[in-house]
Amino acid sequence: MIRLQKRCFDAVLVFWKLNKKPNDTSKALITTTSTMVSIYYVQSATFLNSPFPSPASGSLRRGASSPQSLRVTASRSSSYDVVVVGGGIIGLTIARQFLTGSDLSVAVVDKAVPCSGATGAGQGYIWMTHKKPGSDIWDLAMRSHHLWHELADSLTDQGLDPQDMLGWKKTGSLLVGKTSQECVALKQKVNELSEGGLRAEYLSSADLFLKEPAILVDDETGAAFLPDDSQLDAHRAVAYIEKGNREFATEGRYAEFYHEPVTGLLRSDGGSKEVTGVQTLKHNLYGKKATIVAAGCWSGSLMHDLLKDSNISVDVPVKPRKGHLLVVENFDSFNLNHGIMEAGYADHQSASAPGVEERMLSISMTATMDTTGNLVLGSSREFVGFDTEADETIIRCIWERAAEFFPTLRDISLEDFIRNRKVRVGLRPYIPDGKPMIGSVPGLQNLYLAAGHEGGGLSMALGTAEMVSDIVLGKPSKVDVSANTYFKPLLFLLYLFVNQTNGLPVETIFKFQGPLPPILPHEVHFGKGTIDLGGLEVKQVSISNTTAKRVWRTYEGGRDSMGFSIFEPINLPANFFKIGFYAQPNNQKLFGWILVARDVSGRSLRPPVDYIEVWNTASLDIKQDGHAYFWQPVCLNGYKPVGVIVTTSSQKPPMKKKSISCVRSELTEQSEADTLVWGFKGVSVVNLRPVQRGTQATGVYTGTFSFQQLNSSPLPYLFCLKNTKLNMSSNMPSKAQTRALFKTYSPLIYFHPKEIFLPSSVHWFFANGALLYKKGNESNPIPIQPNGTNLPQGGSNDDLFWLDFPLDKTAKEKVQRGDLRNTKVYLNIKPMFGGTFTDIAVWIFCPFNGNAHLKFLFIKSLSLGQIGEHVGDWEHVTLRISNFNGKLWRVYFSQHSGGTLVDACDLEYVEGGNKPVIYSSLHGHAMFSKPGLVLQGKRKYGIRNDMARSDKWLDCGKGYEVIGGPWGVVEPAWTSYFRKWGPRMGYKIDKSIKSFAKKILPMFVRKRLRNIIRKIPYEIIGEDGPTGPKAKLTWTGDDKYS
Ligand SMILES: Cc1cc2nc3c(=O)[nH]c(=O)nc-3n(C[C@H](O)[C@H](O)[C@H](O)COP(=O)(O)OP(=O)(O)OC[C@H]3O[C@@H](n4cnc5c(N)ncnc54)[C@H](O)[C@@H]3O)c2cc1C
Repeated sequence: MIRLQKRCFDAVLVFWKLNKKPNDTSKALITTTSTMVSIYYVQSATFLNSPFPSPASGSLRRGASSPQSLRVTASRSSSYDVVVVGGGIIGLTIARQFLTGSDLSVAVVDKAVPCSGATGAGQGYIWMTHKKPGSDIWDLAMRSHHLWHELADSLTDQGLDPQDMLGWKKTGSLLVGKTSQECVALKQKVNELSEGGLRAEYLSSADLFLKEPAILVDDETGAAFLPDDSQLDAHRAVAYIEKGNREFATEGRYAEFYHEPVTGLLRSDGGSKEVTGVQTLKHNLYGKKATIVAAGCWSGSLMHDLLKDSNISVDVPVKPRKGHLLVVENFDSFNLNHGIMEAGYADHQSASAPGVEERMLSISMTATMDTTGNLVLGSSREFVGFDTEADETIIRCIWERAAEFFPTLRDISLEDFIRNRKVRVGLRPYIPDGKPMIGSVPGLQNLYLAAGHEGGGLSMALGTAEMVSDIVLGKPSKVDVSANTYFKPLLFLLYLFVNQTNGLPVETIFKFQGPLPPILPHEVHFGKGTIDLGGLEVKQVSISNTTAKRVWRTYEGGRDSMGFSIFEPINLPANFFKIGFYAQPNNQKLFGWILVARDVSGRSLRPPVDYIEVWNTASLDIKQDGHAYFWQPVCLNGYKPVGVIVTTSSQKPPMKKKSISCVRSELTEQSEADTLVWGFKGVSVVNLRPVQRGTQATGVYTGTFSFQQLNSSPLPYLFCLKNTKLNMSSNMPSKAQTRALFKTYSPLIYFHPKEIFLPSSVHWFFANGALLYKKGNESNPIPIQPNGTNLPQGGSNDDLFWLDFPLDKTAKEKVQRGDLRNTKVYLNIKPMFGGTFTDIAVWIFCPFNGNAHLKFLFIKSLSLGQIGEHVGDWEHVTLRISNFNGKLWRVYFSQHSGGTLVDACDLEYVEGGNKPVIYSSLHGHAMFSKPGLVLQGKRKYGIRNDMARSDKWLDCGKGYEVIGGPWGVVEPAWTSYFRKWGPRMGYKIDKSIKSFAKKILPMFVRKRLRNIIRKIPYEIIGEDGPTGPKAKLTWTGDDKYS
């Protein structure tokens, strides 16, 4: 990259030298560091004392009378008609378009120099071969193609050589297929391209060989040939455009600000919706008519940063897609007559990004020979963030892929070119739906965006520039935007992500802070992305801007009164279909998932035969994005609906499988309401879960939703899926994989600073004197073996046996206090939702629970005497992990008799990692996701659960033992002890209350207190001794949450 910058730098210097006249009285500032140059072109001497007019003093004048000069300027504010952010091919051509097509003044600002972005790595093909007629970008590509040819012709007309100016070569292009299937597709492509108005020809292997003898051909080889395609040299084209733009500096209409990252947006009155320019560390650059962000792959993060302190959030889903290119200089082993690309290139280019964490490296052969005889071989694609380091392995792969097409390369070693080769690395601005975002940013006046051209920015630059300029100047577009869909939906998409309602949390995508657990190579089914339910393959689609499109939202009601949003899964993998839409509260970051399905049996999915409108929001007096219409599919006999489809039009959706699919009845099960997504005036939107849940249950959670309306007839039923494969554990993680999962997600539990009753291991409890009592023989308790082997096995909780502390007072007090250093947690690993999820139940043992405290009337914390105290307390949290991808979805927190379920996006994590932070309540050891006070009871009064951080904490990942799991776990003997872990407490509530309340409370409130206490969950009261993990229903069942 340094080399590239140097080239651009050289070009800038050369140009400056050409323009500087010997008698020029003015000065130029050229500040250079090893990689940096800044040249400011400023107005003539008339502006010396006020170098650039401030916004208030009007714009630069066209053709100012004073002689042009290059001048040192100390001005912090400069005003132009248009400010372009980004000096890549898109930004520079936009500037050129305004300069040549209007009389507006333009400033280009770049954090580095023009070729430092993707543009500098571009191979330079301006081809139509791999484009699809009628596709969303077709019109723009055709217009651009035409404009590039027009530019080359106009250079010729001026007596200039386009080859010198642009590196232009009209070589024609070949899209080469190597299999009969590819050739069939290429023939079809040739027909389509011809119908699309281009000269196109299919070449048999013999014809191809004649045209391009260096290519290896056999009977199955063929090619699509477009004789009118051309290529250019990105660096020369940039230098040409820069040179042209700078000619307008003489009129005071052009300025460049290089090595000046844009750091802020200027808005009138400090914060209004009108954007007036941008800020860099050195300058305020005002754009009176327009500010255009053309910052390539940085556009998304830049927009986010620029608006982060405002109440507007714009999500531009552009991300970097790294590419390598190999340039072999003065290559003479063979010649290329054409630009060449392998047939699979188009798929490689359009492949959608997987989860944010996956790299997805792909390499596809492209080969061109530039005007100086360099062989240029491409190219790779991968998602590795903003990294631009060259990777030698990838270069080797590019070379080897090329050698599959050009056999001569097989006899040449890449090492032979070590001295005369260059590697270009660039970050393509990738956008999920492949359509660049071009247009005004809704909600922000005078702000425009032109980004997301991925691997086609050089080809589409001139058309994009013309389009942007037409939009800003209010001229009709040359590209038919009405017939094509790419432009409007982009604005729409953008609009959807422009939040005019105080930056709702849902506008931001939830991301785990640390790396996700690795999926170990030997895992057979776990983490493979899809699961076969028996005739129906399902894939879990994590909801993000790239995988889902918001169709509607309301801003009111529900959690924190922020409303909720409905999303439609998009960019589905090939042959997968939607079975429902996804809904989530707006008070959460964008998070969650939905299943999409592929019909493996040929009879598992069918399109609906009709839709019934089950609800609409037209009559709801709430703030919403238009009206939402909820349609339930009517299915063929033998098929069931799984989710609803939501539209913003009252027109029935089309009866296509693509809209939503019904599922064969045998692959479905009964569902019921799960967690609440939104509730408002008698309407509740709920997630759906299988009615039957547990280790043997086959119901599969789909991620879809339904709704319920108070006082109206029940809605038609929606179903969940069913795993018809017999083995529920087959998709679960192996032992080693479970270790990897637990290493990533094992919780950190904080105990309250005042906590004196801490946990211990079971072994420690037994080894330190715990006793086993038998009914009828109470005077003869027996010590328990440290491994629990002498505990009665099996049976039921029949009051025949119980455990208790040692009799010796000191020993008893020691055991009561537990021992954090001698604590481990116990894991029960179980399949959930038909084996599509794995529950890791993390059990924690505390030898003793302290007494309960009440918040009552004016008393903040009223000790309830013995109430709540008990020996042998078991609490747990459950990590619910997807078997599709190993991601943590939810965590269950046990809290006395019930518990709560918290989505992973709402958890607190240990800094920099994915370990959830858990708070254990003072004395009661109930588990909570947040510190603070939670009252259990009525309104302002109830049992206190106090949680806080302290220096007493337990890292569950440090010491654990698996006591239950699908792979033949050797269970310790104590797991099969089903009797009580503590004695029935010898107090009576009424008596107990009386004795302590009498001392402190007046008579008339004692009754009230008794009533409150009677409503306290049984487990807190703790009269009865608790049982161990395996005796609880959750051992094989689902956790109990409200
Ligand atoms: C290996 C490779 C081969 C390719 N081959 C071809 C090809 O043959 N044909 C084709 O059509 N396309 C090709 N492309 C794609 C093409 O290069 C890109 O689509 C195009 O260059 C994108 O141009 P851009 O101006 O949007 O982005 P960039 O060229 O990346 O420019 C963005 C500019 O924004 C600046 N910027 C970023 N943040 C800020 C900030 N905060 N303040 C100020 N400035 C900022 C950057 O410094 C950069 O100069 C190829 C790409 C690669 C990687």
